[in-house]
Amino acid sequence: MALSLNTARMSAVRPSATLAMAAKAKAMQKAGIDVANLSAGEPDFKTPACIVDYARRALEERAAHAYTNARGTDEMIDAMRAKLRREQYTDYGVNEVIATVGTKGALMLAIDALVGAGDEVVLFAPYWVTYADLVRLAGGTPVVVHTKREHGYRPSPADLERALTPRTKLVVLCTPSNPTGAGWTEDLLRTIYARLRGTDTWVISDEIYERLTYGTFRHVSPVSFDDDARGRTLWVGGVAKAYAMTGWRVGVAAGPKPLIDAMITLQQQRTTCAAAVAQAAAAYALRESPDVTAAVEEMRRTYEKRRTLVLERAARLPGVAVHPPEGAFYIFLDLGARLPGKHRGRDVGDDVKLSELLLDEAHLALVPGTAFDGPGGLRLSYAASESVLEQGFDRLERFLAELT
Ligand code: PMP
Ligand code: GLU
Repeated sequence: MALSLNTARMSAVRPSATLAMAAKAKAMQKAGIDVANLSAGEPDFKTPACIVDYARRALEERAAHAYTNARGTDEMIDAMRAKLRREQYTDYGVNEVIATVGTKGALMLAIDALVGAGDEVVLFAPYWVTYADLVRLAGGTPVVVHTKREHGYRPSPADLERALTPRTKLVVLCTPSNPTGAGWTEDLLRTIYARLRGTDTWVISDEIYERLTYGTFRHVSPVSFDDDARGRTLWVGGVAKAYAMTGWRVGVAAGPKPLIDAMITLQQQRTTCAAAVAQAAAAYALRESPDVTAAVEEMRRTYEKRRTLVLERAARLPGVAVHPPEGAFYIFLDLGARLPGKHRGRDVGDDVKLSELLLDEAHLALVPGTAFDGPGGLRLSYAASESVLEQGFDRLERFLAELT
């Protein structure tokens, strides 16, 4: 027998580096090793009890066990529209929204619906791992704009100009960003949209971290700008991060009807719908009753305190530079000045080797920047308790003291 896989398709995709690192750290913990796991982009909080209670009642009282419409339940559609009206000041019709299997599900359906062979998709590096793989799986070509820490991981208009061609089908934005935590200003977003005016280029605006912002930074969604911006943008959001609901697997998207219709057709044939009970929980979360708002704000404040701790500890690491994150729960440690190096006589050529040694020897799990097309960096997630963060920085400090 010569059983084979679809090698062409499988060569377009790599395992998710974030999920792989988190799984490795958890496996080591299970084996009894005390790993400081700062790899996963996953809240360390439980889903707020009021959301869980609502989901339990939904299961008991109504059809939260059954298939739903591929677009989502009526309750979910109402909740998504109300949220967008409330927070982005933007009206979306019933035909312009969809609930998906995680935010990843929305990105997958949209990229499949939009991108094909010969299409270019602009990504701003360091970018979240999954974007490039979804583009390649769809047959498209990622065109990467590298942004710099010194510029707050924001592109200049000239950077964007170099990336755009007549084949640019799509631009993917992510603010606040995974993996850098960078929040883009309204001015920058308006400049990007002004440049796209008159083109046939779509935008996916991944705003999954919109609620998690710090200091004076305020998140602004480009769909609130004008009809041109709204008409070329798929707004993508979710419940995973702000409401600590990663495992419920619900994402939300809003955009022009033809694109949402295509995503619904794909969803019908791929996964049918997001789980009914999870949609009930997500709808309750998105409606933001005062108990939900209070829970979200408490988690946000906790992340903000941890961010302060992380910035203080990072400032004490020689040769390591950071951009203070405006949002999300990541900080991107720029070790460019320390690499390549030697640790106890061994070559540490790059961030990938460094993250391997950190895990194996210092028992610290961080995600290598190369996974995000940000070589020389390490992503640290501060969705972890202060004691784990302190422990992680102690280990990193000790390791780096021996990196010459
Ligand atoms: N977009 C970004 C920027 C993310 O960091 C993540 C991480 N999970 C996702 C989308 C996917 O979210 P979900 O878990 O809802 O699929
Ligand atoms: N988005 C999170 C992360 O970047 C979860 C894992 C994933 O979906 O990539 O760590």
